[in-house]
Amino acid sequence: MELENVEGFSDPDVDLEQYETPADLASHLLHLASQHDDLESVVDLGCGTGVLSIGSALQGASVVGVDVDRSAVEVARENAATLGVEDCVEFVVGDVRDIPFNERFSAAVMNPPFGAQEPGADRPFLDAAERLADVVYSVHNTGSLEFVESYVEGEMTHAFESEVALPRKFEFHDDEVREVEVEVYRIESTG
Ligand code: SAH
Repeated sequence: MELENVEGFSDPDVDLEQYETPADLASHLLHLASQHDDLESVVDLGCGTGVLSIGSALQGASVVGVDVDRSAVEVARENAATLGVEDCVEFVVGDVRDIPFNERFSAAVMNPPFGAQEPGADRPFLDAAERLADVVYSVHNTGSLEFVESYVEGEMTHAFESEVALPRKFEFHDDEVREVEVEVYRIESTG
């Protein structure tokens, strides 16, 4: 319920595949992570307006969120303040292909671009996540399981299905929003 109060993108950038993770999906993902005691220190790659960062902080994690879009990071900071977790989350402007720190985290959480605009756009996210964190939670479009499982070096331990509503302009579709099936993976990284 608290995550319902996180503001989304005011003007989503199609090239960056910006859409926010719905509160129910974010809480489901973070509940799984919390049950595994994975939420001690969290890096949120492509944090957008911060729903996964803020949810992690509400579960007691110390969090760093990274996004290439400065305006999204500014909204994320406002959202963290609104939800009272601004002391537990640091938001940084940066590109996942060139992460500006070398810390190790207990978990990486992310809802990376699906590669609809730029094929393979999720790969640098998986690379960075495995390098930075012991466990990775990642949202992908349905049917990615085989690819992700063979791409990552670590071991996929859990997968579940969910849905997200994509804004019309992402899909060149007539409906205002379109429900798209997604899959969430938990990966124990070996790096
Ligand atoms: N994590 C947020 C946003 C998901 S949308 C949420 O769950 O609501 C994907 C995000 O990845 C966008 O905010 C976009 O700006 C960001 N992004 C895309 N390419 C990126 C890159 N190369 N480096 C960092 N962030 C990137």
